[in-house]
Amino acid sequence: MISLNETHDASLTSWVNCANQSGTDFPIQNLPFAVFKTGTEPFRCGVAIGNQILDLKAISTLKPFEGKAAEALTACASETLNPFMDLGFEHWSAMRLSLSRALRAGSDLESQLKPCLIPMDKAEFALPCQIRDYTDFYSSIYHATAVGSLFRPDNPLLPNYKWVPIGYHGRASSIEVTGQSFHRPVGQTKAPDAEQPSFGPCKRLDYELEMGVFIGQGNTLGDAIPLQKTDQHIFGMCLLNDWSARDMQAWEYQPLGPFLAKSFASTISPWIVTLEALAPYRTEYQRPAADPKPLPYLSSDENSSLGALDIQLEVLLQTPAMKGSQTPVAQKQCMEKLSQSSFRHSYWTIGQMVAHHASNGCNLQSGDLLGTGTQSGPKPEEAGSLLELTKGGKQPLNLTNGEQRTFLQDGDTVVMRGWCEKEGAARIGFGEVAATLLPAKAAN
Ligand code: CA
Repeated sequence: MISLNETHDASLTSWVNCANQSGTDFPIQNLPFAVFKTGTEPFRCGVAIGNQILDLKAISTLKPFEGKAAEALTACASETLNPFMDLGFEHWSAMRLSLSRALRAGSDLESQLKPCLIPMDKAEFALPCQIRDYTDFYSSIYHATAVGSLFRPDNPLLPNYKWVPIGYHGRASSIEVTGQSFHRPVGQTKAPDAEQPSFGPCKRLDYELEMGVFIGQGNTLGDAIPLQKTDQHIFGMCLLNDWSARDMQAWEYQPLGPFLAKSFASTISPWIVTLEALAPYRTEYQRPAADPKPLPYLSSDENSSLGALDIQLEVLLQTPAMKGSQTPVAQKQCMEKLSQSSFRHSYWTIGQMVAHHASNGCNLQSGDLLGTGTQSGPKPEEAGSLLELTKGGKQPLNLTNGEQRTFLQDGDTVVMRGWCEKEGAARIGFGEVAATLLPAKAAN
């Protein structure tokens, strides 16, 4: 398990002053990675510090680091993070320590690195790495029970749920970074009282509040990843909105699981917060005493004591009416919070998801993305989807501006945010993931 070290010291400050302001997502204790560009320059790797991005390609030419950190920095002089992610934990950790020391108040490198800072609001982001495969889990028992009771009232939670971290293989090709706009999907649906299905625009378009887990170093085909070693393979995490067409999903999901209801778009936040940065926020993993203990390959003392992660999550909605004719800055503030929860409620830890995924010898690869499944908390108002918040569309949400929503309407923007905070540790954040639903494309 990753231990706390000098990079987590809550008293550290940076010579980049905006990183020292309370409430920033990106203090010196965070140091997440992304791929960005400005203007017509090529995409390159960067690290967030306050409201600035440290351009890793630019600093690599200065050769400021030594040893494994120097090797890591060379790998970061790329258009994706895959070469760096593939190096493994020792390199990630050496890079984090060197970046932390270089950005600290009083660092000798300040004058050299200062010209390599770029304002975040001038940057355009790309996917942080080439996502090779995408697997989506179903790790919130509250979400699984609520959705199960809507789709199968007589049998909400299937008997394997408490034994197997349930997942399915999704599409990587339709995952894009924050700022994505996508057209309402069309597909096959069947109303309960209809004699046969029809084909047309989805009528029940929903979001799913999830975390994404990026695999750094993979495993050889045929070899498992023991639970005790999953920290060596997980590079970091992001926010994930797994857009879902509920009417298409209800008609198609049996017997093989979701297919076209999920593969038209998924959106992630641009910054990967490393597992090492999240170390102060690891917490006890608990199950109700009456529930079965996980099988030995999914169980360890460390996983029980520190396997869960306390990450606060929230979902906000901005309708076209809220956007109105206001200025872009005012628009950004005009949103309505739909729900808030924490990833600590997950029924399975990210270590268990990775160990289970590789337990049959399936080879995970650098850049693979694992979705955690919708993170709904124990209370109904902590639900991570409209399907749950509106009881399957039966109880519309009343927004404070007088509008109502059951499912999303064309022009709606959904924003998700995540952060960690507790006494004695620096608050760190994930930034946000925002995307907008466009009308269905006209039939050809
Ligand atoms: Ca999902």
